[in-house]
Amino acid sequence: MMPEDLLAKARAAKGFMPDDEGDLLHRVALDRLRHGPALEVGSYCGKSAIYLGAAARATGGTVFTVDHHRGSEENQVGWEYHDPALADPVFGRLDTLPTFRRTIADAGLEDHVVAVVGRSTTVSAHWRTPLSLLFVDGGHTDEHAGNDFTGFGRWVARDAALVVHDVFADPAEGGQAPYRVYLRALDRGFEEVESLGSMRVLRRVAGDAGDPVG
Ligand code: SAH
Ligand code: MG
Repeated sequence: MMPEDLLAKARAAKGFMPDDEGDLLHRVALDRLRHGPALEVGSYCGKSAIYLGAAARATGGTVFTVDHHRGSEENQVGWEYHDPALADPVFGRLDTLPTFRRTIADAGLEDHVVAVVGRSTTVSAHWRTPLSLLFVDGGHTDEHAGNDFTGFGRWVARDAALVVHDVFADPAEGGQAPYRVYLRALDRGFEEVESLGSMRVLRRVAGDAGDPVG
């Protein structure tokens, strides 16, 4: 599915995207991108953006990817997913933007993947463009994941895709916020199309871009 050159880049990139789930994301993007741009929440170091960007390269499409690049709760110092190599020596805070930029440039995807640097709620408040695909992989608190769904979910076009990552029905396997977003989406006009690992692929079957998802 993924072209060999970009698959190697995706595998080598820092991040949190298993090969098989990345492949699924790529396949959904290949199918959707000719209908309009895709948007990812949670760029981190660009790993999933390569899977999306590979589809954009193949279709002539565009992927926007939103992140404040200061990391989620679990990426901060002292937490489980902290990577000291990503600390900004000047501000002493996490900064994943330089690594993200290198990853995307090295993959040759700068013409297809557009970084939007800022908080998801700030960007979604001004967003007005119908989406062919929304990939929710940002903050894992109910507040952040919920805002990603209400803020950007409404811009998912009819029949377009909503992909949610880190969905765990069993609390023993992981946090529950993405799972609750998934349940909420099923209740608000999306139906499940496919599921693999912690990834859920849904399609908007009620309403259209611009209509609130509640
Ligand atoms: N998709 C990535 C992993 C994303 S990790 C991969 O393939 O590896 C989650 C990211 O969401 C982090 O980089 C964090 O900075 C970002 N994030 C968390 N809350 C956010 C918010 N409210 N606004 C913007 N970005 C946010
Ligand atoms: Mg994830």
